[in-house]
Amino acid sequence: MNALRSSLILNERVPMKPFSIFNTLSRKVERFEPLKPPTVTLYSCGPTVYLPQHLGNMRAYLFVDTLKRALRFHGYDVRHVMNITDVGHMTSDEDAGEDKVEKTARAEGKSPREVADFYIAQFKRDCAALNIELPPDADSTDHVSPPQSVLCRATENIGAMIALIERIIAHGYAYVAASGVYFDVEKWRGAARVGRLSRQSLDEQHAGQRLEHSPDKKSPHDFALWVLNQPGHLMQWDSPWGRGYPGWHIECSAMSMKYLGETLDIHTGGLDHIPIHHENEIAQSESATGHPFARYFVHNAFLVGMEGAKISKSAGKFPLVADLVAQGVDPLAFRLFCFGAKYRSELVFSLDALRAAQTNLNYFSEFASNVPDEAVAGPDSEWTAGYLERFSAELADDLNTPRALAVALELVHEAYTRNDKSIWSALHKLDSVLGLKLDERRLAAHAQFPAEILELQKKRDQARAERDFNRADALRKELFSRGYEVKDIPGGSTIAPRRNP
Ligand code: AMP
Ligand code: ZN
Repeated sequence: MNALRSSLILNERVPMKPFSIFNTLSRKVERFEPLKPPTVTLYSCGPTVYLPQHLGNMRAYLFVDTLKRALRFHGYDVRHVMNITDVGHMTSDEDAGEDKVEKTARAEGKSPREVADFYIAQFKRDCAALNIELPPDADSTDHVSPPQSVLCRATENIGAMIALIERIIAHGYAYVAASGVYFDVEKWRGAARVGRLSRQSLDEQHAGQRLEHSPDKKSPHDFALWVLNQPGHLMQWDSPWGRGYPGWHIECSAMSMKYLGETLDIHTGGLDHIPIHHENEIAQSESATGHPFARYFVHNAFLVGMEGAKISKSAGKFPLVADLVAQGVDPLAFRLFCFGAKYRSELVFSLDALRAAQTNLNYFSEFASNVPDEAVAGPDSEWTAGYLERFSAELADDLNTPRALAVALELVHEAYTRNDKSIWSALHKLDSVLGLKLDERRLAAHAQFPAEILELQKKRDQARAERDFNRADALRKELFSRGYEVKDIPGGSTIAPRRNP
């Protein structure tokens, strides 16, 4: 019954409300206007599946998940596509080196498909642990009517990539050489040679990098759309130019357009993607279609400084979700830790900061566990209304999650102070963005507490309110002997199973 009521709350259609976000294209916080409201088409660069995704990568996906939930909170209907790179991402972001998936396949004696399947499954488990909602897997049909939410694999969309490369060649921005089909970067950028997104010249963009200078390329800045004549490469497909495989950048252009249409509302990714990957995606897409590729580019800053943390694996390796679990940290504490920072600010990882997030998670969780059924079924107290407005305003202000979190904590604090648990509808709505599974936590806690235990807790609260401390103490002992511990809080108590009954 309670679960049913909860889902009805989440599915309510709310009128669209204003929302602002920092657009890397303009370097400004802009009022967000989707092309076809209330629909929002959102594309996110997803994982390259040759190793587990570390907590830094997971910050990028948590950011997208939060953005998606915040847009829904503001009445938008988000269609989300995330790609999975299972071919073509070389060990250098340029075209040099080895294919990352094939490198792991050789090292582990597996096929590239086995490697990709293994790390996709791990990625999905990690996302589930962090309550990141992924789009459904794409089916293998080529006939789609955008916009559609999907999680799609590069190797299953080779046809869309070939078709896009043909359009780029037809428009004169790509040329065919013996080693591959290349994008003509200098022709696209013109005399100024400055990128629209990075605002860097080609020399600045590639400063300090050793560019592969194949005699086949007109310029070392040109990048591969399709790679030819690499007999050692395991994954190969037929194409109009011969057998080969796609470059990494073309994958995102082709899949985003196939599933979402030729102009996206929002494109996300980590800051590292601005100068090369996203600059190249814009060049490929716009040279093919003649339309703007993405109206808002939104980038998350990095999670850094993990080397000193105790949970870091061998030097230089970032920890994984599994490392959190091994340290007894609830993965949702990591979610809350990321929520507590602005997505555009670098975030320094430490176990201390994570423990602080765990304390906040416990605070929400303990409150939720003690919300009685009457408070869930009944209306919220009137004083909660302002909280929803404030939470919404903070999110609408360039996704200010730290301030939104402060509002949510304040709501629970006021409920304790007033001794009024009638805030469930509001808290549940806030949790549709926080993603802490407070509903599940409450139901699980209630399942643990037999009715007679809750009755004893209620009697004890009453005895305390009447300042009958002897009776309150006797009831505490009785609860303890039955395996439960009560903790007094302003205006009432919380209850939990005894740690060592
Ligand atoms: P990759 O698999 O390397 O393409 O990375 C997947 C996503 O994670 C991309 O959007 C990257 O920009 C992002 N990313 C990589 N490292 C970090 C980090 N330390 N903090 C935040 N995002 C990251
Ligand atoms: Zn991408």
